[in-house]
Amino acid sequence: MCPVADGKPPALLVQGLSKTYGDGFTAVAGLDLEIPDGAFFGLLGPNGAGKTTLIGSVCNIVRPTTGTLTVFGHDHRSRAARRLLGLAEQEINVDRFLSIRQILIYHAGYHGIGRKAAVRRADELLEVFRLDGKAAARAYELSGGMQRRLVLARALMHRPRLLILDEPTAGVDVELRSEIWRLVKGLNAAGTTVLLTTHYLEEAETLCDEIALLRAGRIVDRGSAALLRDRYEARDISEVYDRVITGEEVA
Ligand code: ATP
Repeated sequence: MCPVADGKPPALLVQGLSKTYGDGFTAVAGLDLEIPDGAFFGLLGPNGAGKTTLIGSVCNIVRPTTGTLTVFGHDHRSRAARRLLGLAEQEINVDRFLSIRQILIYHAGYHGIGRKAAVRRADELLEVFRLDGKAAARAYELSGGMQRRLVLARALMHRPRLLILDEPTAGVDVELRSEIWRLVKGLNAAGTTVLLTTHYLEEAETLCDEIALLRAGRIVDRGSAALLRDRYEARDISEVYDRVITGEEVA
């Protein structure tokens, strides 16, 4: 178990994380990050900054070169950590041969949820995400926006306490974006910790109670939107981002 402040382990604790890929490229370099239980946390940075590598490391998809990672105090590779984590990846990586209802039910099976409970939960989420009319369809028969809703529903099947969203609104229309945010805000209000990456800076500014700015595999700065705006004498997070990420100023 990891060190515990105020009796509650953080939702995520990353210490000394580095990742050098097989070709010798270092995508993440000596990164430390702590996300408190219940936070709505935004991770911002340009393409290639290392956001997906960090998320992949947390979810045990990428094997870190160095570092320790814990999820609510549990080693990230443990079954307990996997049970507590839900990931909606950037890619729509679902089985082409299953119906979307089966996709959800099978996912629950990976987490040891019994068939009856899985069916109940799948039907509940299909309704919440307004996919119930498409329950028997294959994912490739859905619109792009419906596919996004499906990967989010799948990430929620086992009721994770830490929900990781890697660019969940990339390429979706305005209406669906606000719908996704309404759902995610509701989950956060009900106690789910959210870790979000997005290139929509104004969304991060509105939604997140804390933001970290990542550049070239390192966290350059972090804080609430208000604190970052003050620190960089910026009008909004876009201006903070320009200064920090384009290197105009580094704290
Ligand atoms: P984006 O916003 O484009 O999703 P990101 O911040 O998520 O970017 P990563 O996908 O983590 O960035 O990539 C960080 C760097 O690591 C990039 O330069 C990328 O090319 C490199 N990288 C990622 N995966 C691999 C891999 N399997 N092998 C080699 N290099 C990789």
